[in-house]
Amino acid sequence: MNIILLGAPGAGKGTQAEVICDRLGIPTISTGNIIREALKTGTEMGLKAKSYMEAGQLVPDEVVIGIIQERLAKDDAKNGFILDGFPRTIPQAEALDAMGIVIDKVIDIEVADEAIVKRMSGRRVCESCGASYHLEHKLPAKDGVCDKCAGALVQRKDDHPDTVKARLEVYHKETEPLKNYYDRQGKLSIVEGQETIEQTTALILKAIEA
Ligand code: AMP
Repeated sequence: MNIILLGAPGAGKGTQAEVICDRLGIPTISTGNIIREALKTGTEMGLKAKSYMEAGQLVPDEVVIGIIQERLAKDDAKNGFILDGFPRTIPQAEALDAMGIVIDKVIDIEVADEAIVKRMSGRRVCESCGASYHLEHKLPAKDGVCDKCAGALVQRKDDHPDTVKARLEVYHKETEPLKNYYDRQGKLSIVEGQETIEQTTALILKAIEA
């Protein structure tokens, strides 16, 4: 099954993607994680993306479309995938269609802006593997250390409150119109993401299995 997770930054896409990935045995493809990896290794694409990312702006469509095209061509994506953070604009969604990629389900995780700003301040991510944690809702077994790979947990620069506000503005302007785009194709399910992670997971699995 080919699934897209939509939702504002901080709505819980990354966390939910990990659960679905374990449940369905299909890979999560996160453009944010791919870009952060490129930044760390200092590739040309990483350098191009850096200033946009740190300002909370979107990386240009042609860059992310190139990334996704390359990633979806890999063998592990042949039996399905979960897209986390792509598409984020209408041209990106159109590019997926133009590649002949058929999307089965689009799950939109809804969380109010105020709750997102609050959440983001507690978010921590693993520097090595990108797994997400939260100081209130999802603590690692050992303080500051990733359960999966023992990497260090850090706060992303773009999770600082001013950047989060900029990212939310971009989300409402550029990404939210995708709800309509996929609703018109009969693929959209809207899921309440404001309660516990487990409640949201249950709603998502129900929507996927419907
Ligand atoms: P994320 O981890 O998904 O929140 O992504 C972090 C940042 O990477 C975003 O704020 C953007 O700067 C960039 N990015 C990730 N995915 C995309 C995308 N599909 N289109 C444009 N920029 C993206």
